[in-house]
Amino acid sequence: MKVPIYMDNHATTPVDPRVFEAMRPYFCEIYGNAASRNHSFGWQAADAVEKARKQVAELIGAAPKEIIFTSGATESDNLALKGVQAKHIITVVTEHKAVLDSCRRLGNVTYLPVRRDGLIDPDQLREAITDDTGLISVMYAHNEIGVVQDLRRIGAIARERGVLLHSDAAQAVGKIAIDVQRDNIDLLSISGHKIYGPKGVGALYARSRDPRVRLEAQMDGGGHERGMRSGTLNVAGIVGLGEACAIARREMAEESARLAGLRDLLKDRILAGLDGVSINGSMQRRLPNNLNLSFAGVEGEALLMGLNDVAVSSGSACTSATMEPSYVLKALGLVDDLAHSSIRFGLGRFNTREEVEYVAGRVIEVVKKLRELSPLYDLAR
Ligand SMILES: *Cc1c(COP(=O)(O)O)cnc(C)c1O
Repeated sequence: MKVPIYMDNHATTPVDPRVFEAMRPYFCEIYGNAASRNHSFGWQAADAVEKARKQVAELIGAAPKEIIFTSGATESDNLALKGVQAKHIITVVTEHKAVLDSCRRLGNVTYLPVRRDGLIDPDQLREAITDDTGLISVMYAHNEIGVVQDLRRIGAIARERGVLLHSDAAQAVGKIAIDVQRDNIDLLSISGHKIYGPKGVGALYARSRDPRVRLEAQMDGGGHERGMRSGTLNVAGIVGLGEACAIARREMAEESARLAGLRDLLKDRILAGLDGVSINGSMQRRLPNNLNLSFAGVEGEALLMGLNDVAVSSGSACTSATMEPSYVLKALGLVDDLAHSSIRFGLGRFNTREEVEYVAGRVIEVVKKLRELSPLYDLAR
């Protein structure tokens, strides 16, 4: 076993070697511009892009022409939220910053709260819809707490009221089965580097009929991607995204079962070895590879520093340099102390059982040590 151990797969994932091999020819050999219509270099690049478009579409139950390639889920979220030009948008307080910051720029937005378990109340969504509501945006699976919203139910409400539904599915694609038809999803954001593909490539699914989604492009230029996203296509990256989707489609069921087993092992070991540990977010509706825990009496940052041979992330680090506690954990109703004491574990394709056992042991060891040093924990008890 090699250290450091990477267990931060919600932040990014390594490129799968099979994905890398699929991409390799598209740098120095098949380097044509997919928009070059006059020669075989261009045709080969365009063929590779169309194959990838089909691979992405198949993973989510879409048609290839409904896939727009972008630079990642951030761009896909921006294109969806700004491109629809809705008079009123409904979203959720725990969304990713790519959605929240896009909404902030747009103005007329209703932010739904979440329950203690991180899930929204569908009745509150229904009540928030007005005659002006043009778009609902609800993340499929959460990047911090891993909770999986009931998109099927949310989609039924959106469809019944004739409102478009967007979902940021950067964490859900390739981990759980997604079907945009079943869920009545009209727009869906995908990121390459969360699914063992390369960074800097992603896709937006935009429904082409019943109803056809109309988007105002956010980038002017050569009219690539049916005018939705101008700019020379990142052929190698797109090939990588396509291959990552094809692998996920074949292996997702087995891999998710394996990761859920490892995640539960990690949880059970830590809970058996320590008291004062709480789980953030629903355990029933959760990604198979996510665990988010709070350790009473321990600073998440101190725990991260103690775990110097394990790559995980804390509920305060990623938000800003000012060490604000995570807005997501605060939205669940956690007090600042518990939000600051949280750690996110993100398991991935290349984690082993041996690594999970090691990480559980290290967490128990470091938390015990920090609590011995901390008078606060004893006082609280
Ligand atoms: C990573 C992530 C993004 C951003 O994706 P990029 O491809 O890095 O731009 C957006 N939303 C969620 C839920 C994510 O996990």
